[in-house]
Amino acid sequence: MGAMRALVFQKPGRIAWQEVPDPVVGDPADAIVRVDAVTICGTDLHILKGDVPDVTAGRILGHEAVGTVVETAGGVRTVRPGDRVLVSCISACGRCRFCRESRYGQCRGGGGWILGHTVDGTQAEYVRVPFADLSVHPLPDSIDSADAVLLADIFPTAYEVGVLNGAVRPADTVVVVGAGPIGLAAIVTAGFYSPGRVIAVDLAESRLAAARSLGADATVNAGEEPEQLVADLTDGLGADVVMEAVGVPEAFEMCTRMVRPGGRVANIGVHGKPATLHLEDLWIKDVTITTGLVDTSSTPLLLRMMAAGRLPSSSLITHRFELGQMEEAYDVFGRVEETGALKVVLGGA
Ligand SMILES: [Zn+2]
Ligand SMILES: [Zn+2]
Repeated sequence: MGAMRALVFQKPGRIAWQEVPDPVVGDPADAIVRVDAVTICGTDLHILKGDVPDVTAGRILGHEAVGTVVETAGGVRTVRPGDRVLVSCISACGRCRFCRESRYGQCRGGGGWILGHTVDGTQAEYVRVPFADLSVHPLPDSIDSADAVLLADIFPTAYEVGVLNGAVRPADTVVVVGAGPIGLAAIVTAGFYSPGRVIAVDLAESRLAAARSLGADATVNAGEEPEQLVADLTDGLGADVVMEAVGVPEAFEMCTRMVRPGGRVANIGVHGKPATLHLEDLWIKDVTITTGLVDTSSTPLLLRMMAAGRLPSSSLITHRFELGQMEEAYDVFGRVEETGALKVVLGGA
């Protein structure tokens, strides 16, 4: 058995790019994938801080990758060695009630968000992918590996949990609170439905500039009365759809104040603290609030959009590294205020 390098979680605050044994196939549905391009997610930073107690010492992190299949176990039917594939952040058993409804994120058969969480993940030279038939997507040659890695998590998350749950319709006023990678992907994919106006809210001017370049019609700094701007632009009514893409109580509560009567608040943010639900204001407003974990059921559609050149994912990639520069990439991604990082991609050149 050989050895490879991988990014290993050691304890809160400590990770290391170190030598570990190569992954081996165990279950008949497994595939081994050589990682060609990989990224770091905001969720990985939560893990690093110790916010995700299911992640234990010794776990290889990462749940987003593009790679090449090098080995498949006997039960794998849809991919074979040599195939270039997108490794989805969600694994799917394909058999449980939720998988049969395409709600893979809620899989009860051993799938769901497991990579870099309850099994070893993608921030490594090789990764074992369980349930390979339903958990990887073969990539056409026309799609670049570094671009495609953004379809492992952030684009399906923004599209399913933000745009689809928010039920964006033509002519809607859509507010996206938080213009990080997820919020920016929500702005891009809201465009599939021709909203009348998209307004982005963030504290960082660099992110508001990125929002404008990706299609936001108006941007407002979170410190400069965004609620007043939304009210002014909607004759005092509020927005049709408001998406929360931050994950802090203040942002969620702001979203519930910006939505119009009968409108929708779609929460995408990963929350670590309770937020107050102001039912004293909301009970009379017919407001729908949605939450969700991505299912990645939209990944085939998003791949077709990318192949058609309609998904400007590369403009979200601000920093590129070699795979072996994992610790440096974590450092850059972890200091966004100074580095202005959106997505960092390792490999894929
Ligand atoms: Zn993620
Ligand atoms: Zn399942």
